[in-house]
Amino acid sequence: MQALPPGSTIGILGGGQLGRMLILAAARLGFKCHVYTDVVGTACDVAASSMIGAFDDGAKLAAFAADVDVVTYEFENVPLSAAAAVERIKPVRPGSKSLEASQDRLVEKRFISELSIPIAPFAVIDSAADFDAAIGTVGLPAILKTRRLGYDGKGQVRIANAEEMASAFDENGRGASVFESVVEFACEVSVLVVRNAAGETRFYDIALNHHEGGILRTSSVPSNLPPPHQARARQIAEQIATALDHVGVLAVEMFYVGGEHSEPLIVNEIAPRVHNSGHWTIDACQVSQFENHMRAVVGWPLGTTDRHSDAQMSNLVGEEANDWRRLATEPGVCLHLYGKSEARPGRKMGHFTRLKAQSSDG
Ligand code: AMP
Repeated sequence: MQALPPGSTIGILGGGQLGRMLILAAARLGFKCHVYTDVVGTACDVAASSMIGAFDDGAKLAAFAADVDVVTYEFENVPLSAAAAVERIKPVRPGSKSLEASQDRLVEKRFISELSIPIAPFAVIDSAADFDAAIGTVGLPAILKTRRLGYDGKGQVRIANAEEMASAFDENGRGASVFESVVEFACEVSVLVVRNAAGETRFYDIALNHHEGGILRTSSVPSNLPPPHQARARQIAEQIATALDHVGVLAVEMFYVGGEHSEPLIVNEIAPRVHNSGHWTIDACQVSQFENHMRAVVGWPLGTTDRHSDAQMSNLVGEEANDWRRLATEPGVCLHLYGKSEARPGRKMGHFTRLKAQSSDG
């Protein structure tokens, strides 16, 4: 793959904060970014240009593709048809295989289990007729998750007993769902791997993630996972990235169930893009997840994934971002605000990373 020179234009499908941070990283290397989004988003404020259009507007997508040199995406719910329309004109990295495997929980689970990677036991729910069999195979407690468009705990309902199943299905809009066993995990971790078109991979340090109500609150490094389990986590992520022929950053979220189990790590989900649990890499690494994603997309050599500091990233959700004045004066805090005007509850408005002197992870 020929490396694109600085001055080239990278197209980004999606206009949220991940796009914004990708653009900032790409700009540092001399690239321009052109955003395609269906609603004006925070990425548009920093992009060289942006185009507002529907993801089913083939003519507009074609015009967008004609104006750029390569295309990436910042969210996995880009319709496959939109990615295909763009791909007819310009390369899309990561490819459609990565998109397809991550936008439907059922497809994702089947794909991961076909690789013999452990996941939570699950059953498919298409209608109320499937409830009894699903409870029979998966057991309780369990979680009902919509197959599509769930994020930050949305489209997920916990079920403690069989009576709660019908109301949970109603609450989720009665759409096609998966029903999965609640995993009794010791902690949650994620692996961020960056892979280039030649198949070379590099890993960021494994992050320890803390969620509340399905929303990521903090990500910390080092994770202090035992070294053999870190190696296993990286092996799982590499296997997934290779099977997808992924180009760019791939995040794999996992439950750590502890060393007494033959398989200490269970995959929860994958994201074919830069990830919230890797935001600490902006301030604690020489080359962030955003820069490395863009390096892979434009065919540049991958940058180092080493980190120079221990770090904890905290999300600023809703009104928490109003605390910017205090955070802006705290030593060791790196503040990132996304420029969103309305602080709705549950909305990610920014994040900050606290840096500490480095310790080793195992
Ligand atoms: P997800 O949208 O699937 O990433 O879920 C968001 C969060 O909900 C996860 O990071 C976990 O904290 C929790 N969660 C999701 N699925 C399970 C599960 N099967 N067992 C236990 N906790 C879960």
